[in-house]
Amino acid sequence: MSTSLLYHAFGVRGYEYRSTEYAKGGLTMTVEQPREAWCCSQCGGRHVHSKGGVTREFRSLPIGGKPVRLRMTVPRVLCRTCFADRQVKLGFADPKKPCSCLIGTRSFARYVVELAGMMTLADVARHLQISWDVVKGIVGGDLQRRFAKPKLRSLKRIAIDEIYLGKRHKYLTIVMDLDGGAIVFVGEGKGEQSLEPFWRRLRHSHAKIAAVAADLSPAYSAAIRQNLPKAQLVFDRFHLVKLLNEHLTELRRELHREATDQLQKQVLKGTRWLLLKRSADLDPKRDERRRLKEALQLNESLATAYYLKEDLAQIWQQAGKVSGRIVLDHWIAAAESSGIRQLMKFARTLQTHREGILNWYDHPISTGPLEGTNNKIKLLQRQAYGYRDLHFFKLKLLALHNAQHALVG
Ligand SMILES: [Zn+2]
Repeated sequence: MSTSLLYHAFGVRGYEYRSTEYAKGGLTMTVEQPREAWCCSQCGGRHVHSKGGVTREFRSLPIGGKPVRLRMTVPRVLCRTCFADRQVKLGFADPKKPCSCLIGTRSFARYVVELAGMMTLADVARHLQISWDVVKGIVGGDLQRRFAKPKLRSLKRIAIDEIYLGKRHKYLTIVMDLDGGAIVFVGEGKGEQSLEPFWRRLRHSHAKIAAVAADLSPAYSAAIRQNLPKAQLVFDRFHLVKLLNEHLTELRRELHREATDQLQKQVLKGTRWLLLKRSADLDPKRDERRRLKEALQLNESLATAYYLKEDLAQIWQQAGKVSGRIVLDHWIAAAESSGIRQLMKFARTLQTHREGILNWYDHPISTGPLEGTNNKIKLLQRQAYGYRDLHFFKLKLLALHNAQHALVG
């Protein structure tokens, strides 16, 4: 072992190597800061008096899989320039951490963060023979520094949606940068209040938001209109499709309930998924097209609703806003005159959200990308800490886009 190895392999510079001890299943290297290198940690002055010191151990990078500790006496000095009385500054670690917890060198912390990108926190803890809490503390500190306060200034188009986390934490409200793909805000709960801190930070950032994609919830639309009066609100098309599918399922159930004919009951029973599938996705091997046709022939209301559902997508398939508006109005009129309660209700929803739906032609955005990350979020959530520590979980969400291996840990 040598002083230059200390620097090149362990990132410890300006210290002299003294000795190595093999104990506790690893090795402990004693290093020393040369007297002439001591300086005041407050003013940087070199005119200092020795006032003793405390011996500390720092975890460093392992050698051959064995834990390595650096032991040194951190000198305490009295500065003749500014009269501060304190420990000298260390180049390789932050000694201010409480003594009860493990102190790692900076290169050790970097190593922990790097490993945490490839394996779970529990794996890292086992591999380095340190506690899970220490690993989480180091990784959490790194996430906090890099992701806790994302820059909002250049945001242009965003999507807002909520995710359901389960009984304990209920909902989180997520804001995504649709141009960059990163999650830029995670609010607790859902609805208007959960977004309050986001609006505050957005105002400070002076970002100029052009468009927001959101679902039809009145709480979001009101908050968006109030906080971003100049932005265009784009109602998410996938939420609309989902809503219509729900109405369709309800209609099928009602028809099934009311059917007196046994055959008709039988046919309706097995068609739920066929009705919701896009006709292009019907499976010829399972005779789905024929079964669907049979059901539709038996029931006129179901047929009307089904074909209107199939036509809904055309609202977003026009060359521009003008023809989009014509198709939308046409659809609304057809649904209203169908006499089918569920369709008429849905038509009213479309009518109320007409402008927001057509805004899609100015900004073809949706909450789709946000929902695309839902699987990743679910995966993250399955890691136990998602439930134990909401703050850490939120940081992981903010880091999701950036970290290539964010899904473990
Ligand atoms: Zn000083």
